[in-house]
Amino acid sequence: MHHFHYMDEELFCEEVRVSDVADAVGTPFYLYSHATLTHHFRVFDSAFEEIPHLVCFSVKANSNLAILKLFADLGGGADIVSGGELFRSLKAGIEPQKIVFSGVGKTPQEMREALDAGILMFNVESAQELDLLNTIAGQMGKVAPVSIRVNPDVDPKTHPYISTGLKKNKFGIELEDAIQEYFRTAELENLEVVGISCHIGSQLTEVDPFVDSFSRVKDLVARLREEGIDISYLDLGGGLGITYSDEEPPHPDSYAKRIIQVLKELYTAGVVGAAVGNGLVHARPRDLTLILEPGRVIVGNAGILVTRVLYNKEGVKKRFIIVDAAMNDLARPALYDSYHRIMPVTDPGRKKVAADVVGPICESGDFLARDREDIPDASRGELLAVMSAGAYGFTMSSNYNSRPRVAEVLAKGDELFVVRERESYEELVRGESMPEGI
Ligand SMILES: *Cc1c(COP(=O)(O)O)cnc(C)c1O
Repeated sequence: MHHFHYMDEELFCEEVRVSDVADAVGTPFYLYSHATLTHHFRVFDSAFEEIPHLVCFSVKANSNLAILKLFADLGGGADIVSGGELFRSLKAGIEPQKIVFSGVGKTPQEMREALDAGILMFNVESAQELDLLNTIAGQMGKVAPVSIRVNPDVDPKTHPYISTGLKKNKFGIELEDAIQEYFRTAELENLEVVGISCHIGSQLTEVDPFVDSFSRVKDLVARLREEGIDISYLDLGGGLGITYSDEEPPHPDSYAKRIIQVLKELYTAGVVGAAVGNGLVHARPRDLTLILEPGRVIVGNAGILVTRVLYNKEGVKKRFIIVDAAMNDLARPALYDSYHRIMPVTDPGRKKVAADVVGPICESGDFLARDREDIPDASRGELLAVMSAGAYGFTMSSNYNSRPRVAEVLAKGDELFVVRERESYEELVRGESMPEGI
């Protein structure tokens, strides 16, 4: 569900005409829908309303301040993976007590910053990280809240670059070793066990892998309780997929339903909370809060990348539509060979052709769509919309080929807000110098 639609043969984002935005800010640009962002966050959040939970938006999916603030205003927290994302989250008004810090390579400096801010918990991914966090917290006279990220060894059946919960992946601590690390954490003076976390991958289109990994994590929670180690937060990570072309990912409601089902087994088994009455959970256990870290499912279909056709070129084997956006603006096709639907901004009924949509960058990997038969026949000067670009779009962009990063624009009803200006050439060289003597 999103708010990009045609009216009078023209593409609109909410009540804003996309071609008017191009006139106002130039091309290329990212365009986000406020109503879609809000709707997606609310749907996801309310799917879990039956149980105590916290939605920590995965900042790496889209880290624009305006979007983070929107989620903060809706009561959301943040899942961060760097000091930069901590900085952004705090600046956007996300409460430190709603921030969880994931990632295999937290630096000492990043740990200090997060301890200073007073975040909810560190999702620790290795034994060495645990020791360093203990040392740093000790130096600062603080106790660091720890959740161990476990690797449940579940195949998420997604693209290999975005599966994270298999034994061969760098993420998390293996389930068999995790219990030992929990014992160690409990002993270390400047650490406090607060949770357990996992995240098995991204763009999952089935619920079963989530349920499998959750079941494994659940068993560990039960064991830890037996050993006298209390867990307050159960962090299930993100990873729910979206429709790029013909995928049919589960609705957040059915995803939530299955997860809550597994969670209730913990309650009814008396592992956590209080089971009353006929064995169903009526009382809300206060002592276990579910944390979710959705990224893509919230923002993916809430944003598009709009680009202008520069040239058409008939290659020997195929047609190339050369546009002014490139792999530095949207890396997903080059990185994962991923599919983004390409839509015309005017005359949606026009014929579709076989073509590649490519950018100006000097790399053969620079394409937005390759070997496709569903490309709108577009000529020089016309606008194309690259759909489903709200997640891992702008955040993955770079300055390769010295291309200034594009503008980000947010539509709300009939209003338009530039939430990030297009970079200037001067900004491209900011911080660089030509010192005497070299
Ligand atoms: C990337 C990431 C997420 C978000 O994944 P999505 O597929 O965008 O929902 C959540 N948690 C962690 C730890 C991540 O690395």
